[in-house]
Amino acid sequence: MSIKTKVTLWFSAILIIVVSVTFITVISVSDSILQKTVKDSLIEAVEKNTEEIEYYYILSDEEFDKYNEYISFNGGFLEVDDDFLNTTNGITIGLYTENGSLIYGENILGKVISETPFSDTVIKTITVSKTEYYIFDRKLDDKTLDGLWLRGVVSATEGDSKLSVITEISLTVLLLIMLIGIVIGVFIAGRVLKPIGKITDAAEKITDGDLKQRINLGEGTDELKVLANQFDKMVDKLDRSFEEERRFTSDASHELRTPVSVISAQCEYALESPMEIEEYIESLEVIQRQSKKMASLINDMLYISRFENKKDDYVFKKENVSELVLDICNDMSVIKEKNITLSHTIEKDIFADIEKELFERLLSNLITNSYKYGKENGKIEVSLKSKDGKTYLSVSDDGIGISEDEKEKVFKRFYRSDKSRNGSGTGLGLSLATEIAKLHGGEITLESELDKGSTFTFIF
Ligand code: ADP
Repeated sequence: MSIKTKVTLWFSAILIIVVSVTFITVISVSDSILQKTVKDSLIEAVEKNTEEIEYYYILSDEEFDKYNEYISFNGGFLEVDDDFLNTTNGITIGLYTENGSLIYGENILGKVISETPFSDTVIKTITVSKTEYYIFDRKLDDKTLDGLWLRGVVSATEGDSKLSVITEISLTVLLLIMLIGIVIGVFIAGRVLKPIGKITDAAEKITDGDLKQRINLGEGTDELKVLANQFDKMVDKLDRSFEEERRFTSDASHELRTPVSVISAQCEYALESPMEIEEYIESLEVIQRQSKKMASLINDMLYISRFENKKDDYVFKKENVSELVLDICNDMSVIKEKNITLSHTIEKDIFADIEKELFERLLSNLITNSYKYGKENGKIEVSLKSKDGKTYLSVSDDGIGISEDEKEKVFKRFYRSDKSRNGSGTGLGLSLATEIAKLHGGEITLESELDKGSTFTFIF
């Protein structure tokens, strides 16, 4: 079942429950209000009638003519005003003697009413033929009217017609609200979940191999936009790393092809026809040089691949960087290639979180390059210092230098400047050093002038 259907069903179910509870509440509250109104009108009608009855011992002829009703009572007359209400709003009122006989007014229920004992100012409920009735009695207080009772009777169903109107109206209104609510709910669910469709489409295309596919929901803080943007960033990263891998593989094969072709050509040449021993030696030297080049290429590539795989597993520890740099300088100063001298200026006891093996690799790569691209009788200066909470490790030489337009390129994989192309380099040292620097949260900067020398600084 789709999320849209599920959300719609849940929403509708909740709406139905809310509407039903509201309906039941409205009806029961209206019913009790209506019942109270019926009872109040009963009391009011009976109370009003108490004022319409008077007692006279003797009546003049004029009075006899003036009033409507005269009932003989206790040796005199009871006079009932015109305003006396027999029946009003479904209420029937009767005047009774203590023993229950009706002397004036209405009693639509007959015996049941006359046999029910009187109780002053109390509303009683009786059931006649499955219908409930309210009865309200009022004993007449005047001394001359002693022994007389007014009794009002009204059906409890009197308010039913009003209740059914209320039921009808509230049912119609609530059903309408429910319908509109469901329609709006379906519309909102559709709108809110629309991006999920886009995410699914993009994911499907990516699964089919199109890594250029993006969701592009735009910037925003709602959860789906955040998810989509995070997804796009993830695919971006994947795309870039696949691209890099592809480029690396193709560059690596390209780099390996040259020494393999040279070796193969030298072999063919040597085997073609008998040669002088010096020529064989020459060919073998070429083959040896190319093999060494291939070996260092393969070594560097294996190191990079191991580094990429282990990237997240390296453990960084607080180390005395000053001592480590000093050890490396001492070890590498014995190289003495091209009669180059290596000196150092190392600030004492600089500590930092580093991965020792990678750190050594970075520094030895920089120093090796300075030897490789240094001049005869040249100088290499290694310096380590700490400033403003950062550590600066630099390797300077007075070698061949790097031209302005090559400064950025030398950090790219397999790049070698024109001047050094024929050397033993693989073009992988600086790119690896940059990766190591990044892993330490740092960077490598370069200052260089052609034919004057270069300074590589690792800032971390
Ligand atoms: P490799 O030295 O194996 O060729 P690197 O990645 O270490 O590869 O260096 C890339 C290129 O940068 C080198 O081929 C060289 O042209 C240039 N380079 C690196 N270090 C120096 C340096 N100290 N002086 C001059 N050029 C350098």
